[in-house]
Amino acid sequence: MEGIDDFIVEDTEAARLMFPEPIEVIEGPLMAGMNHVGDLFGAGKMFLPQVVKSARVMKKAVAHLIPYIEASKKAGESSSKGRILLATVKGDVHDIGKNIVGVVLQCNGFEVIDLGVMVPSSKILERAQEERVDLIGLSGLITPSLEEMTFVASEMERLRMSTPLLIGGATTSRVHTAVKISPNYSGPTVHVLDASRAVGVATSLISKQLRAEYIRDVAADYEKVRVLRAQQSGATRLAALADARANRAALEFASPPKPAQTGVTVLSDYPLNRLVERIDWTPFFQAWELSGRYPAILEDQVVGDSARSLFADAQTMLATLVREKSISAHAAFGLFPANSVGDSIELYTDESRKHVLTTFHMLRQQMQKDKNSPNLSLADFVATKASGIPDYMGAFCVTAGGNLTELVTAYECQHDDYRAIMLKALADRLAESFAEHLHERVRREFWGYAPAESLTNEELIKETYQGVRPAPGYPACPEHSEKRTIFDLLHAEQNCGMTLTEHFAMLPASSVSGFYFSHPQAKYFGVGKIADDQVHDYAHRKGISFEQAKRLLSANQD
Ligand code: SAH
Repeated sequence: MEGIDDFIVEDTEAARLMFPEPIEVIEGPLMAGMNHVGDLFGAGKMFLPQVVKSARVMKKAVAHLIPYIEASKKAGESSSKGRILLATVKGDVHDIGKNIVGVVLQCNGFEVIDLGVMVPSSKILERAQEERVDLIGLSGLITPSLEEMTFVASEMERLRMSTPLLIGGATTSRVHTAVKISPNYSGPTVHVLDASRAVGVATSLISKQLRAEYIRDVAADYEKVRVLRAQQSGATRLAALADARANRAALEFASPPKPAQTGVTVLSDYPLNRLVERIDWTPFFQAWELSGRYPAILEDQVVGDSARSLFADAQTMLATLVREKSISAHAAFGLFPANSVGDSIELYTDESRKHVLTTFHMLRQQMQKDKNSPNLSLADFVATKASGIPDYMGAFCVTAGGNLTELVTAYECQHDDYRAIMLKALADRLAESFAEHLHERVRREFWGYAPAESLTNEELIKETYQGVRPAPGYPACPEHSEKRTIFDLLHAEQNCGMTLTEHFAMLPASSVSGFYFSHPQAKYFGVGKIADDQVHDYAHRKGISFEQAKRLLSANQD
């Protein structure tokens, strides 16, 4: 059992919780220890970071014990409460939340089969049937994954499956699960809000006593949601696209600032130490399901201890990453002569503005508005071609995920979920701070319209500066395929090693891309629901079929 003692010494707090008695190398006490951790978590006495940290002691120990456990299983004594398959759906890459859910379920005695990321429906369902799993859990971060999950549900129906389906991840919701996913599948379909709910849901769905009533309750709740939605959906009337366009934002473009340098600029192997100071730590704690704003969270009455210990571990790992350059960060951005034409923005090869380099296709708000409040489109933030005013816009992509997969895999091979998740969460933070830092340099140097700007981190996080960097997939530009245009324009693959999945998720996972607008009145907004007239128009502008456009815009339609 070489090595176990090292882990215990390393995780003394976790070990003390799990093994109040001297460790005996049999499965029983290990599982009892983990169940104890699971109970403490369930009772709100322990928070996620400690749970995941504790779990690694168990996992490392169990890895040594596999032969013994296999032997006892052959004797027919499986101690698992149930078998759960987890997967991030096809075209999506983010898995911090899924992995946390996996660890928490394991801590509560469930057996977890994790198929990883970008898993096609056929693979999920084949494995589910082969392994006779009790539950299937699907995870997704980006809106196209909602469609993919609906597809998996309809495939389960076609295959006459009855396995309960769990839905989780950032863009998923109870309402979407009730309205769009569950009607496709006659088996139980349940939305799981976060890792703290996963155990309750899984237990209820597997328990012989609780199951029937739980499924009835969820079905009744979702039916209510659907009825409510059906009543509301008739109520939201949308403006005709022509009327929305007539109510566009008419901004003033006195003399738009000309970039100090146009064309594409590449920053390879960017020094990580320059990114550390701009990290926004609040979302880091959110990733670990600790709620509160940094730095106040460190002194929080409830989660303060846990937050401090997590933050200390994060600082240690971050210092190592910076010192050893274990991951790499790259960026490419471009600033171009540009003018808007309707709801699209043309980028030109040079100042003569004769040749179109590429075109970004924006969407416009179609909600009913009064005259004082325009129906916005990002295209409104760039001077129209008809005006003859020379304007500019930019695009960027950054990643802090170079070499990330290899490092994460190494931790996973050591059964160290804690470090694997920590590393991904830190790489995400570095990617976001890179986006912030690069935007700052663009404003001050490369575009240079705010050379004297000097803001604190708090001011940057509040984005109090002039100009915005909307990201495709977010509310002002919700359609993800525009990332393809950004990536082609910036040669993201050659310049930064960044690629897109078939649903336009960025790889490596810790990446950010978007547009730059400099107008002082440029701001973030939500496009919201759009009508079929705009879907037709969008299809026409992008040169795709109406059906393709419908799919790409499904999250913005009822
Ligand atoms: N400090 C945060 C930054 C991310 S959220 C972090 O470290 O995680 C803010 C970013 O999200 C913005 O810079 C923009 O790129 C994007 N964003 C937010 N709201 C948006 C909207 N309505 N439309 C488009 N992009 C938006």
